[in-house]
Amino acid sequence: MIITQKRDRKQLLENIRDYNSFFLIGCSECSTLCGTGGEPELKEMKELLESEGKKVTGTFVAKTGCQVLGTKVELKKNFKSEVDDAECILVMSCGAGTQSVVELFKDKPVYPTNDSLFLGNMTRMQFFDERCSLCGDCILDRTGGICPVTACPKGLLNGPCGGTNEGKCEVSADIECAWVRIYNRLKQIDRLDDMKKISDPKNWSAHKKPMNLNVREKASSEKK
Ligand code: SF4
Ligand code: SF4
Repeated sequence: MIITQKRDRKQLLENIRDYNSFFLIGCSECSTLCGTGGEPELKEMKELLESEGKKVTGTFVAKTGCQVLGTKVELKKNFKSEVDDAECILVMSCGAGTQSVVELFKDKPVYPTNDSLFLGNMTRMQFFDERCSLCGDCILDRTGGICPVTACPKGLLNGPCGGTNEGKCEVSADIECAWVRIYNRLKQIDRLDDMKKISDPKNWSAHKKPMNLNVREKASSEKK
């Protein structure tokens, strides 16, 4: 899931000071779980705006904010007049959700209320860890399923650096050395020989910007 945190509210109010009426859009998926764009946060934002003398024409928590077509259908079907009545739209999801709305309402200013931080795993309620950096060329098959690209601050691919110390990372004692974790994991699953395999330099071109993928086109070209 995409991990978001609330942007500084003072800065947000400064950004939107020229507008008087707002429509608020959240997302029922990641930003709801992060506590940045679900029903309670939309209510909180509505109260904040109203306390500043602004008007909120409506609020809506999209099922999946980054799903452009679905969000368009939901909004146009149920909230057309509320959106039309607003001078500005605030999007309380991730940057992808914000840009879905930019695409749908070309004539309206759209502002994000959150910062998008990383792709995360929720390990307990509202506690998130980064496990994958979306490199586009996965090496988990060689590392016992632990990602050194993400878990090692240096992204080392062939064993630990000289700074590893009693299982901790030299960058911070709060971080377990990724390569000690990988070693322990490989030992546990009887795959320690994998430690001896040298990984080639990473193919970073597999992570070009902007990425896109047409699954249907890819599937039909693979059939040919
Ligand atoms: S190797 Fe790349 S794709 Fe695989 S988990 Fe790590 S960052 Fe993600
Ligand atoms: S101590 Fe381990 S996790 Fe930290 S930078 Fe070195 S290899 Fe990476």
